[in-house]
Amino acid sequence: MSDQIHVRLPDGSVKSTRRGIRIADFVREEIGPGLARAAVAAKVDGKQIDLSRTLDRDASLEVITASTDEGLEVIRHSAAHIVASAVQRLYPDAQVTIGPVVEDGFYYDFYYPKGFTPEDLEKIQAEVDRIVAEDYPFERSLIPVDEAIELFKGMGEDFKVEIIEDLKAQGETHVSLYRHAGWVDLCRGPHVPSTGKVPVIRLMHVAGAYWRGDAKKPQLQRIYGTAWRTKKELEDYLHRLEEARKRDHRKLGRELDLFMFHPYAPGAVFWTGKGTTLYRLLGDAMRKLVLANGYQEIKTPLLFNKALWEISGHWGKYKENMFLVLDSESGQHDFSLKPMNCPSHHLFYAAKRHSYRELPVRYHTQDVLHRNEPSGTLGGLTRVRQFAQDDAHIYLREDQITDEVSRLTEMIDRCYRAFGLEYSVYLSTRPENRIGDDAMWDRAEGSLKKALDALGISYGIKEGDGAFYGPKIDYEVRDSLGRSWQLGTIQLDYAAPERFDLTYVGEDNRPHRPVVIHRAIFGSFERFVAILIEHYAGAFPVWLAPVQARVVTVSDRQLPWAREVYERLLAAGIRAELDERPDKLGAKIRDAQLQKIPYALVVGDREVESRTVAPRRLGGENLEARSIDALVETLLAESRIPFLEERVAANGAVRQAQP
Ligand SMILES: [Zn+2]
Ligand SMILES: [Zn+2]
Repeated sequence: MSDQIHVRLPDGSVKSTRRGIRIADFVREEIGPGLARAAVAAKVDGKQIDLSRTLDRDASLEVITASTDEGLEVIRHSAAHIVASAVQRLYPDAQVTIGPVVEDGFYYDFYYPKGFTPEDLEKIQAEVDRIVAEDYPFERSLIPVDEAIELFKGMGEDFKVEIIEDLKAQGETHVSLYRHAGWVDLCRGPHVPSTGKVPVIRLMHVAGAYWRGDAKKPQLQRIYGTAWRTKKELEDYLHRLEEARKRDHRKLGRELDLFMFHPYAPGAVFWTGKGTTLYRLLGDAMRKLVLANGYQEIKTPLLFNKALWEISGHWGKYKENMFLVLDSESGQHDFSLKPMNCPSHHLFYAAKRHSYRELPVRYHTQDVLHRNEPSGTLGGLTRVRQFAQDDAHIYLREDQITDEVSRLTEMIDRCYRAFGLEYSVYLSTRPENRIGDDAMWDRAEGSLKKALDALGISYGIKEGDGAFYGPKIDYEVRDSLGRSWQLGTIQLDYAAPERFDLTYVGEDNRPHRPVVIHRAIFGSFERFVAILIEHYAGAFPVWLAPVQARVVTVSDRQLPWAREVYERLLAAGIRAELDERPDKLGAKIRDAQLQKIPYALVVGDREVESRTVAPRRLGGENLEARSIDALVETLLAESRIPFLEERVAANGAVRQAQP
């Protein structure tokens, strides 16, 4: 066997090197000291591995640096080890369990019935910092599985023993251990070369958890932490967390008086006057958009006999998620509140004969829906049991799919941009288990691709992620804090037309199957309101603000004119309020700002004199005093729904198409 091996690098070059060289040495000698310093781990033939391992055969090698997501994950994983070692230095009777990497950080679960106090957490943080500063190497060893069981038994680590026994039962003969600072853990790796390579660790908080997530098993203490490449990154992250906390829609919903919950109706929202206004504005805007795009808004029953759910398949697969209702005549729970609109739309379509000429037929419904989510998962507006969607179904010929999907992607683009929501698009293709033949899927995926390509937007492909009944396009939006939300969807359905025996009469005068598109843009209104509250931090644009303007006076002397202003604004359709409290002007303006009202309309002696108001924007900008008519014009212009099409009227003037 030759002493030389060949290592292929990502740029395609091949280096010849000595067999058995440590990866760290290879990187330093053959690639360069800069990359060697930045490296936290490596990938050999695509598999993540420690830099301390050796290269023993021809292979491809990729260096994982701290600056990549993968590198950051290795850093956070290593941080979890450091935290566990710090905990056991300070609390030797705490037992370790597992410590995975999660979004933005990691956690480690300990069996420690006494529980960790905030003071404990401070001590652990100090110990963690010490272990990082002392820069211990992570050392790997591979030992027979029985030896590992004995080792952890001897240490009194019952949970680790259980984990290793499971590995043994799965056929593992050897397991790898990692040591640093005299502390040992079972782990696959890889880790950074030494504890000093984890630049900054911050312990966040402690929460309760159960061993293996099972409430019947021992309760554990979960320490959450985060780790970053630099102090600056940590500070930015903490700032984002603080912003998110301030913007939490549950908190703002209370402060801005938008909605409430009551234990008598878990997962169902009470919308206040302001919240109802917001909800209605969004609903009306969506209505206008779809009505301007060839949809019919229809209403279908809320309560259906199980016969419908048997056809749709929900009775078999989705029953636990439906609220069943007792039928007093049969004495059975034969009825259910609808969890979605699709089946009722299909019934509606099937009730009439349709010619190929009238397709696409588009139904839109914003009815109340109910889904029985477990009570433990309910929270805020994002996890509810009662909600409404901008739910539409489009019945069309296969040759119309590309055109229709192009219309939809254009509509969705206009909507999201109007809210300042950036988005990514994903095409999900045929899954393993599916109906239809390959030719059908080729056509279906092809027509979605064609529509996306025509729009000129880049999109990701999720291979095999489509539903069994058709491929789909998903939209993931990013809010102002950079968080992602799964929102719109365009879903082709080849199964429902079969189940519901949907047909249209073709040019040949014979019945044909249409295709169904399920589509939503906002998705659940409840969830969309939550996203918007956090996205805007409660400061809605004028067109959405539940209160657009509040009239405030310098003193009581101006109240008669202020009342006239207020009433004329209301009469003009402006959502206005009048602050009649005898407070100082500054306090009244501050309160309007806290309520995030877009305009405070200041009325003093000068304004009374000139029969004007002096508007002040939420941001603090003072506008010139103006007449009520001029003010109404400004407010109405800003009240226009931004995603409704600008249409050129017959006289050539641009006007907004708003019925
Ligand atoms: Zn590890
Ligand atoms: Zn549907």
